[in-house]
Amino acid sequence: MSHLKLNIINTTAHLIFDRENSAANIFDGDTLDQLDKMLDEIQSNNDLTGLIISSAKPSIFIAGADLKSLSSSAPDALEKLISKGQSVFDKLESLSITTVAAIHGACVGGGFELALACDYRVASDAKATRIGLPETQLGIIPAWGGSTRLPALLGLTNALPLILSGKLLKGIVAFKKGLVDGLCPAENVVSYAETFLKKGSREDELHLMTHNPVSVGLIKAKVGSDLEKKTRGHYPALPKALEVACKAVRSSHEESLKNERDAILELAHGPNSSVAKHLINIFFLTERSKKLRPNNIECIPKRINNVTVLGAGVMGAGIAYWLSTKGIQVTLKDINDDAIAKGMQTIQKLYAGSVKKRIFTKAEATAGLDHIYPTKDFPDMANCDMVIEAAVENLELKKKIFAELSDIVPEDTILATNTSALPITEISKSIKNPERLVGIHFFNPVPRMKLVEVVKTDLTSEQTLATAVKFTQAIGKLPVVVADSPGFLVNRILMPYLVGAGELMSKGVDMEQIDNAMLDFGMPMGPLRLLDEVGLDVSCHVASTLSEAFPERMHIPDILSTLVEKGCLGRKSGEGFYVYKDKDHSPNPQAIALQDTPTEETRKTNIQEHLADLMKQEAQRCLDENVASCAEDVNFAMIMGTGYAPFKGGPLPKEL
Ligand code: NAD
Repeated sequence: MSHLKLNIINTTAHLIFDRENSAANIFDGDTLDQLDKMLDEIQSNNDLTGLIISSAKPSIFIAGADLKSLSSSAPDALEKLISKGQSVFDKLESLSITTVAAIHGACVGGGFELALACDYRVASDAKATRIGLPETQLGIIPAWGGSTRLPALLGLTNALPLILSGKLLKGIVAFKKGLVDGLCPAENVVSYAETFLKKGSREDELHLMTHNPVSVGLIKAKVGSDLEKKTRGHYPALPKALEVACKAVRSSHEESLKNERDAILELAHGPNSSVAKHLINIFFLTERSKKLRPNNIECIPKRINNVTVLGAGVMGAGIAYWLSTKGIQVTLKDINDDAIAKGMQTIQKLYAGSVKKRIFTKAEATAGLDHIYPTKDFPDMANCDMVIEAAVENLELKKKIFAELSDIVPEDTILATNTSALPITEISKSIKNPERLVGIHFFNPVPRMKLVEVVKTDLTSEQTLATAVKFTQAIGKLPVVVADSPGFLVNRILMPYLVGAGELMSKGVDMEQIDNAMLDFGMPMGPLRLLDEVGLDVSCHVASTLSEAFPERMHIPDILSTLVEKGCLGRKSGEGFYVYKDKDHSPNPQAIALQDTPTEETRKTNIQEHLADLMKQEAQRCLDENVASCAEDVNFAMIMGTGYAPFKGGPLPKEL
């Protein structure tokens, strides 16, 4: 198969990546071989003065290395693949003619490493353009010269944040930070690249100030200790990437490439290789969710252009904002004037923040806001494709809302509820066409949380389910399909863990000890801090729904309701398990006063094991009861919905 083409126009060679039978360009052994041969051809053609590398794909330059072959290669094969990439990119770098990468679309990992081996890089300012080295997010490091060339190009202090965060930058940001040398509209990217050919080859700048041994040592120590604090040593690729990049600025190119090779081999096949395997698996699960088709039945999902969101509270406002950013026409309805005003204020703030972060231009933000029509009355619903109900969590209210709705919306309008834990089947009893009711459960905060649980009842039709899944994908979220069961999947598994942490605390275990133990386990936040963030009142409400469903095992400790009665609702009221002041928090004496004296048995409890087991057991039950259709869905949902230690692969990890 051919993955790239070589055209010679006058004295310029044009190498165009265009992987056969694929929407994306990626690097595998075959592609590297073809590139190698073409570079030989270019090298031996004495008439050439320049080379421009571009892509024929509409929104991808090169999406990186083929992760399938990378993750499944035995050590020998991996070493060969890495060496091959390094030597081909070295060949590109050492061409005597001027080389320019003309980047439009995703230029990621190996794609950017190729671009780094060129003399110049120009990028399009299009939204599709994203440039960076995300390898550390996958538990490996850039090893086709990226950990060596990026510090040489930008200086160690500028390169490290990019390598260690794995962030992908828009064209404009990449230009400002010096990753690319020019910026232009997408349609001009090749012609603009041609103007760089006249500049001739160039040498890397020397970053003398930051690359002396003392500075490098200081940078390494400071960044290393910050990383350790933040990640508690769970992500070995980070200290490895730091080490390789710091050595790169003090060693020969060949030595540095060897360091890259050794590092990636250790990360992929050494004693901690499960981390990279789990992280790469999450990448595959994410791709799977993006492409998920929930049923084999031929049904064409309905296009959703107009959505009515009911409830302008925390969730309704977040959902309305998110939909409007995707060009969907939103009617935001609430029964309360203040709630509408507050909801619109929240949405305005979200847009202002996005403009500040350069996610949107001012004009885009204004256009987005114009997509939302706030109202207290039901408008004409004739064009309404979908209703998403995000009113207060009360079964009788929701039943009433849907009963009323099913009379006023067109027959084919999809009806969705954002309930956290209420039985959707019960709600469907209140409407005429229960086959069009589905749960679309967003997580809080909506703009940040990518996971959406699409909840099907026994009555939900295939068409409704397919539409709900397609809709969540179209708005850039990651769906997981789950069955209608109390708490669905994520809250069902998370709640016993949170309640279990509250119980341990009430039995006398130090609250910071509990939170620290679970941070050490790899959770992004301790369970008691998380209870405070969610709100103790909201948590109690969800927990009681679960406790009604599973009274034999879900006991809610009194401390939760007592704190709520005292007005300690968590962060929103300034105190819960902790007292919050500015950015600090400390244990709340009112909560400590409610603790029992620990018994011998309590003292002996292994906190991590006990709390992790609660999640694992509930996860297994969800699988046994078909709440989720496979362990991979359980793991994916818990990692994306709660931040469950990604390096562990979820509560029911795959054998790797
Ligand atoms: P909220 O209290 O912030 O907002 C609810 C809004 O609904 C209020 O503004 C209220 O005036 C309005 N409302 C009440 N009756 C209404 C009606 N008949 N028609 C239209 N609006 C009406 O609540 P929230 O936190 O946004 O939660 C909304 C729903 O989303 C609940 O079902 C909740 O369980 C679920 N949910 C919440 C979270 C969360 O973290 N807050 C996360 C996921 C799902």
